[in-house]
Amino acid sequence: MFDAIVIEKPDGEQTVRLTQLGTQDLPQGDVLVDVAFSTLNYKDALAITGASPVVRSFPMIPGVDFSGVVRESGHPEFKPGDRVILNGWGVGEKHWGGLAGQARVKGDWLVPVPEAFSLRQAMAIGTAGYTAMLCVMALERHGVRPEGGEVVVTGAAGGVGSVAVALLAARGYTVAAVTGRPSESEYLTGLGAASIIDRAELSVPGRPLAKERWAGAVDVAGGVVLANVIAAMRYRGVVAACGLAASMDLPTTVAPFILRGVTLAGIDSVMCPRPDRVAAWSRLAEELDMTSLEAMTTEIPLADVIERAPAFLDGKVRGRVIVPINPM
Ligand code: NAP
Repeated sequence: MFDAIVIEKPDGEQTVRLTQLGTQDLPQGDVLVDVAFSTLNYKDALAITGASPVVRSFPMIPGVDFSGVVRESGHPEFKPGDRVILNGWGVGEKHWGGLAGQARVKGDWLVPVPEAFSLRQAMAIGTAGYTAMLCVMALERHGVRPEGGEVVVTGAAGGVGSVAVALLAARGYTVAAVTGRPSESEYLTGLGAASIIDRAELSVPGRPLAKERWAGAVDVAGGVVLANVIAAMRYRGVVAACGLAASMDLPTTVAPFILRGVTLAGIDSVMCPRPDRVAAWSRLAEELDMTSLEAMTTEIPLADVIERAPAFLDGKVRGRVIVPINPM
């Protein structure tokens, strides 16, 4: 038997509890994994609180990511004892996820843990960190270079934002960090931010075109914040948009696109093809500073996950939150 968070919706009303399950309860899949660490991402908070219809079948074990060790495998690429990571693929949404002692999944969804990382470090990065790397890769793919000018990261003190700041600064970019929490300024400069911008400055509707400021941007907020970021991009600037922490809306105009050649690059980590995932994880292994990673990581026990989830929706969580399950 193992501990698991289970979300149910028996009479249309969502309930969440910590309970015990057995291997025989797990869904189908060709690889059984002993979960070492899972994490709490923004999407997990939406699932656990029921604030947004993230969960598409019930009962559901939430947790969009985990690291662990293969116990049984019918997949040609994995054998017992292999260290693996899972991000996305609808896990924690329509297939049982990582906030449990074991998970049975499709081997095609798994990525080997790079040698450089412990299972704990792999989840300190987690889906938020891997998404941050996908954003950095998108900026580069569209031609953004450190010498091209400042880049801006919104939601900088959150999970995606913290890793994005650290990665961009390590590659030599001059990073402006947007945060709603001035109290986190020292934390953000410690990760490598060159300047701090009060989120309030970007939270009121602005003009369709503002003064040109940014060569690149990583946005986790959406809504008016993203619209203001787009309006202040330099000529041929690139925005990697991955989140909706402020809003699902995007109240912008075509002006930045047709007058400044701005590129809006959408980032999806969930269905991202496997070669891109492997590339992102391998670049994380080469480029992410482990001291910065540790500075942005806190741990909570599985028993505290349900109580902690709402803090994400209130924007009160700093960096990455990992959940040790069977630490290895
Ligand atoms: P998180 O740790 O909760 O960070 C979100 C941050 O956004 C907060 O810490 C806060 O940072 C900022 N924020 C909160 N409310 C805001 C508002 N009203 N306006 C502007 N900023 C606000 O969450 P996360 O795990 O980093 O995820 C961030 C976003 O990316 C979420 O929307 C998530 O769903 C999305 N995401 C998408 C993908 C994908 O595949 N596309 C993958 C991972 C995450 P400050 O206090 O510093 O302002």
